[in-house]
Amino acid sequence: MLWPTNCVRQREPLADHTSFRIGGPAEHFAEPSTLEELIGVLREARSRRLPVCVVGGGTNTLAPDRGICGLVVHLGRGFRTIQDVSESDSPMVRVRCGAALLTQRLVYLAAKHGWGELEALAGLPGWVGGAVSMNAQEIGRFVQEVHLVRFDGTQRLLMREQLAFSYRDAALEPGIISHVVLQFPKVAPEEAYERIRRALQYRNSSQEVRLPSAGCAFKNPPGVPAGRLIDQLGLKGARIGDAQISQRHANFIVNVGHATCDDVLSLMEYVQHRVREASGVCLEPELRMIGQRWTA
Ligand SMILES: Cc1cc2nc3c(=O)[nH]c(=O)nc-3n(C[C@H](O)[C@H](O)[C@H](O)COP(=O)(O)OP(=O)(O)OC[C@H]3O[C@@H](n4cnc5c(N)ncnc54)[C@H](O)[C@@H]3O)c2cc1C
Repeated sequence: MLWPTNCVRQREPLADHTSFRIGGPAEHFAEPSTLEELIGVLREARSRRLPVCVVGGGTNTLAPDRGICGLVVHLGRGFRTIQDVSESDSPMVRVRCGAALLTQRLVYLAAKHGWGELEALAGLPGWVGGAVSMNAQEIGRFVQEVHLVRFDGTQRLLMREQLAFSYRDAALEPGIISHVVLQFPKVAPEEAYERIRRALQYRNSSQEVRLPSAGCAFKNPPGVPAGRLIDQLGLKGARIGDAQISQRHANFIVNVGHATCDDVLSLMEYVQHRVREASGVCLEPELRMIGQRWTA
């Protein structure tokens, strides 16, 4: 099947694009580098009636072992931009970021130039578009604008008042974030640097950062961390296939070898069952399954 642009590859292994290192092939895998290319690919997919999904840094994503039918969009280099669009004399900094900008690049620039309150994002893997889509670390509080390209190729600009961020959700209509405008208070660079340094130190000492994972498997239910509920049942180290509950952080599932998506899903179902049985709490997945709906 020929595409009007050479940014589309066939049968691209998704395991190469997820931090879990799990996932079969994407039937069509597009890495558009410009807005025009992105829109062209989406229009073509629509005319062929292909289902479309999007993966960013792949650090919160579980991809099916058998792969994904249709088109997977993975924004290319042209979306790794960052531009200062601050108004002069404003106490706030405004930046326009491409959705494929590494979140850690943003944090690096914050430490360098004195952009405040970004310590919550220190060490957060993945891309800015994925973080906004997930409202990771409540990044939504900085978001002023979201530029969205719907799956039919039409564009929409969403202003702050039109956005409704909540815990690990941006409630956006289906589509691809191409750019966002973020705003932070200006602070002294030494202060920003020191806060970020401390936050990184804490993250590295408390989270699972050595083995492949996709961060927390479950959302925290009201009032109690999911990790505590899992830990209280002595489930650290529990394993199905090569998917294991991290010894370090009970809400992380790690890939200790050649884990499959099915291994991870089975382990998640087991944990959900044990927690529901012990405390009546229904743990909801935080990981996003792309290409199909959660059935667990
Ligand atoms: C070691 C580790 C630690 C982590 N710690 C944290 C943490 O402390 N706090 C936290 O909140 N998360 C954490 N995470 C999860 C993850 O890093 C964040 O959610 C991250 O912001 C996701 O970004 P991503 O680009 O990797 O998204 P992806 O995994 O690629 O995508 C996540 C979701 O967003 C969608 N998406 C991605 N890009 C776009 C786009 N451009 N437009 C529209 N939708 C899009 C995807 O379809 C998917 O549904 C951690 C993960 C790891 C591996």
